[in-house]
Amino acid sequence: MEDMARLAVIEQNTPSVEIFNKILHALIQHITNILEFPHDFELRKIKDSLIKDSLSLDGFADYLKYIGFELITKNEFLLKLESLFNDVLKYEDEDLQEFARLHIPIVTLQIKAMERLREHQRLIKTGQSKETDLNFDIAFLIELLEWYKHSFFKWVDSPDCQNCGGRTTYKRNTTMKMETETCRVEVYICESCTASTNFPRHNCPRALLKSKRGRCGEWAACFTLLCRSLNYDTRYVYDTTDHVWCEVFDYDSNRWLHVDPCEAKLDQPLIYEHGWGKKLEYIIAFSRDDIQDVTWRYSGHHKEVRQRRILCSDLELMETILLLRKHRQKQVSEARRIYLTKRLVQELAQMLVERKPSDYDNEGRISGSLQWRKQRGELGETKSHVFDFKELGRYSIQYVTSKDEYRIYKNGGEYEIINTWCDGTFEAKNVFRKEEKDWKMVYIAREETPTIFDRRFKTLILKAELSGGHGDVSWQHAQLFRQTLMDSESTLCVELTVNEN
Ligand SMILES: [Zn+2]
Repeated sequence: MEDMARLAVIEQNTPSVEIFNKILHALIQHITNILEFPHDFELRKIKDSLIKDSLSLDGFADYLKYIGFELITKNEFLLKLESLFNDVLKYEDEDLQEFARLHIPIVTLQIKAMERLREHQRLIKTGQSKETDLNFDIAFLIELLEWYKHSFFKWVDSPDCQNCGGRTTYKRNTTMKMETETCRVEVYICESCTASTNFPRHNCPRALLKSKRGRCGEWAACFTLLCRSLNYDTRYVYDTTDHVWCEVFDYDSNRWLHVDPCEAKLDQPLIYEHGWGKKLEYIIAFSRDDIQDVTWRYSGHHKEVRQRRILCSDLELMETILLLRKHRQKQVSEARRIYLTKRLVQELAQMLVERKPSDYDNEGRISGSLQWRKQRGELGETKSHVFDFKELGRYSIQYVTSKDEYRIYKNGGEYEIINTWCDGTFEAKNVFRKEEKDWKMVYIAREETPTIFDRRFKTLILKAELSGGHGDVSWQHAQLFRQTLMDSESTLCVELTVNEN
């Protein structure tokens, strides 16, 4: 009865019956969604603009409180942390973990990990490597990471047209009810046939195991699940400057290792600041039983980072983390709680030190990237290509980094296309084409080893030597022909005229 009376008050204060009905309809829809997906905390927030705008109507805010909503004036950033901390619990579902394990070629990865371990030990024994010893779990993690990036998950900027397979462009955002969740959907329109293609941005891990594609959010979410399903103590790491990755605890070295599934990088925490040039602010890590501000592991410039942190006060952040941690750890055993506290103190001590990129060069750095790229032939084999123009005329040779192709024009018209950068080089050593999908940048960079880069052209020699740079990501500090993935302009252009003489 009270319910009806309260609604009657709101109706009186609403400009028209139609608007009142619309508000009621939106509210019922919102509540239905909550009841249908009770574990999706994002869904509980009122985002509907009609409901939001109606909060000023007399009696409406009171009514929402009466039926169980909370009016929260808390900081958006701190609320986000709370919601992410709740979110990681979804990876603990045992059925889901079992389902995840079915997707992993565990035996194959175990064999590869054993081989990697043996090779690693051989290199140390023969004095060819100064790296520290590797344990099986971490060797397996490296294999998991490589398999995940190169064989399992796919990066999507814009999806291929589902009708003709053509290129699409972004049109709009919408929300759709899918099999296991209600999620945000990006709608793309085909550039050739104008059909529309949906790209659902799944949060549900089960849906991600099926779609196996997305951007860094999906990559990190699905990888967190796979790691948890294999019983690695795993964190989902959120960076407020728009990236997410993971951390895995290594019981041998007693520390959390940075793991970026999009990049297949392990234990290279300074790549964002030093390699990508990010201006970091807050990096917060979430595991099933802990939450931690891990910003300091990812920066060699703590003071500058501190000056950029303006989303809340240091005290507010600390209090929020302490409160959330305390609340969550009520559910763990006494022994585990003591262990977690010890581990936390140790981690804080590690993070006090401002690391430099060079610290990661020699000290226990674990990286399989060079070996992997060689194995997969990503370094490319040059074809001793010679541009030989016998006919008279004006020629233009253009290289487009984003498309990885050479365009050869004769007298202003297109003449020939050569795919991949190495097919148009006479000789090149230790260089590769690097795509930074998150950053949408592409360029030619040098390998981690010393470099010679030749572009020999009959008698014209274009020569570039890439060297220098600092620390762990020094290879990234020398780049040629850099451009964004969206560009299609040439990054190298050679014009010449062949005449009688
Ligand atoms: Zn199409």
